[in-house]
Amino acid sequence: MKEFGFELRVCAWAERGWPPGDNADDDVVPLVARQLGTRRRRWDTVVVETTEEALRRRAPFGEARLDSDLLHVARNAPAAWAYYREALPDPGYPWRYVREAVHRAADRGFVETRKRAGRVELRRRYRYPDWVDRVVAIENKPNLGAPAADALAEQLEHDVALGLADEVWLATQATDAGVEPALLEAMPVEAGILAVADGRAEPVWNPRSLDVETPGTRVLERPDDPPAARFEYADPGWKRRKRLEIAERAYERGWRAYAETMRTDCRHFRLVDPEGPFPRCAAKSRGQTAAECSAGCDAFEPEPPVWRTRGWPVEGGPGKAVERLLARKRRRRRRRRR
Ligand code: SF4
Repeated sequence: MKEFGFELRVCAWAERGWPPGDNADDDVVPLVARQLGTRRRRWDTVVVETTEEALRRRAPFGEARLDSDLLHVARNAPAAWAYYREALPDPGYPWRYVREAVHRAADRGFVETRKRAGRVELRRRYRYPDWVDRVVAIENKPNLGAPAADALAEQLEHDVALGLADEVWLATQATDAGVEPALLEAMPVEAGILAVADGRAEPVWNPRSLDVETPGTRVLERPDDPPAARFEYADPGWKRRKRLEIAERAYERGWRAYAETMRTDCRHFRLVDPEGPFPRCAAKSRGQTAAECSAGCDAFEPEPPVWRTRGWPVEGGPGKAVERLLARKRRRRRRRRR
């Protein structure tokens, strides 16, 4: 199976089956998203562990993510009126950006603002909750032979050294032998391994919890000559902020946002399997990748205009309906437990 289709199936399984193995916990609500991380490292699948109660407290801040500037305001806004430059900690960048963020926060409805003697004052309407329990990273490699395992092992070693996620996993396709023995041997012992078959994943190696509260090591370059690699420390404050930003993006996007970068307006685009749904290309008679289902696809054909007059006159044809369906599913997932 291609990596993209595999990744979507791991996401669908994580939404139903997280945490893996015998660790089932009814209190854990997994929010699953794809392709999130930092500027230097994107994880295929991210699972944010939270609870129903925490999601209820996050809800007043809206469905869209809070970016780093908005998080600065949300986490520090005072309960009583105060001048914003006295109420909020020095952000380490110009205050005018903070002022803009305060106004955006007011537009989003989680703080109130007023002007007193030419100064912008604010007070919070809701306390920003501590809603993220754990952030888990999963690397997906369906068909991984021994040669490629080394490169992947190095990547996972960097994830372990940084300790930005609470756990890192590798998800791979189960084979007749279970999991390729060379793979088990190559991976760092701190990383867990999931064997995936028939849309279900079973742990064959359990990960160790990483310490997200202590400084981590970030690799700046990966030259062929390892002694020349450059490293820097990632302090716990940076890690805390990044984890929250990742969780906020996961909250906003979920994993079904794949439709936003695919040609849902192509007459061959289909959604299949209610467990997903997953994209399928009728012209190719298989699941297509996001990369091939793009402007450059030779087989692309626009929806015939007549489709747009059959009950979808204003909002577009079936392609638009697909996007709305996926967006609805995404929203329902966030609200399901409220
Ligand atoms: S033909 Fe190309 S653009 Fe159309 S659904 Fe298939 S992969 Fe996507």
